[in-house]
Amino acid sequence: MKRVSLFMAILTGIAVYAMNVSAAPPATLYYSQRPAYNIIVDAGHGGYDGGAVSGGVVESGVNLAIALKLDAMMGLLGVPATLTRSSQEIDYPEDADTLRKAKAADSKARMKLIRSTERALLISIHQNNFKRSEAHGAQIFYSKHPGSFELAGIVTRSLERAIAPTLTKAPAPIADTIYLMKNTGCPAILAECGFLSNPEERALLMDDDYRNKIAAALLVAVLEVT
Ligand SMILES: [Zn+2]
Repeated sequence: MKRVSLFMAILTGIAVYAMNVSAAPPATLYYSQRPAYNIIVDAGHGGYDGGAVSGGVVESGVNLAIALKLDAMMGLLGVPATLTRSSQEIDYPEDADTLRKAKAADSKARMKLIRSTERALLISIHQNNFKRSEAHGAQIFYSKHPGSFELAGIVTRSLERAIAPTLTKAPAPIADTIYLMKNTGCPAILAECGFLSNPEERALLMDDDYRNKIAAALLVAVLEVT
C-alpha cells in the first residue's frame, strides 16, 4: 500500500513538473551511457544533530524525507544516487563520546564519501530558520568549486517552476564556515528548501505533495546536468 502511494506521488510530482517545463529532458532515454556526474544526495543533519527546530518540526526529518523522495525518483529513471544517510540514525565511531565529537565524526564521514566519489556532484538538502517568522522562500547556496554557481542557477529555475516563483530567492554563495561545502572538491549546492520558522511554509514543508514538488524540481535539475 505504501509502495503504491509513493509511486503515485512520484508520478504526480513528475507530471506536475512536466506540465511546467517546455523542454522536458527525455527522461526515459536515460542512462545507457555514463552520466557526467555521480550525484550525492545529502540529507542535512541527522542522528544527534536535528538541525533547526521550529513549531515542533525537526529539520533533519524534513531533509531526509525530501532526500529519500529525490532518491526514489532518480531510481525510477535509472539515475544512480548516493545518499550520505538514509535514516535518522547515524552510526558514530566509539570514541565520539560527546555531541561535538559525534557531529565532527559525521561531517568527516560524509566528506570522505564525497571525496572518494569520482565525478561527484553534491546536493545538500536543508531547511531554513530565522527569528523573524515572516522570512520565507527557498534559496540555493553554491560552493566556490567550478560548476556550483551554474548548478545553483539551474536548480533555482527548476524550483521556480515547481513551486511559486515568489518562494524562490536568487542563488547566493555559501559561507566559508560550512565545512561540507568548503571541502568537497566537487560542484556542490546547498538547497534551503524553505523556512521552518514561517508557519505557512512549515505547513507546506510537512505536506507530502509539496515535498514531491521540491524533489521533482531537484530531479529535473539533476537530469539537466548529468
Ligand atoms: Zn540545516
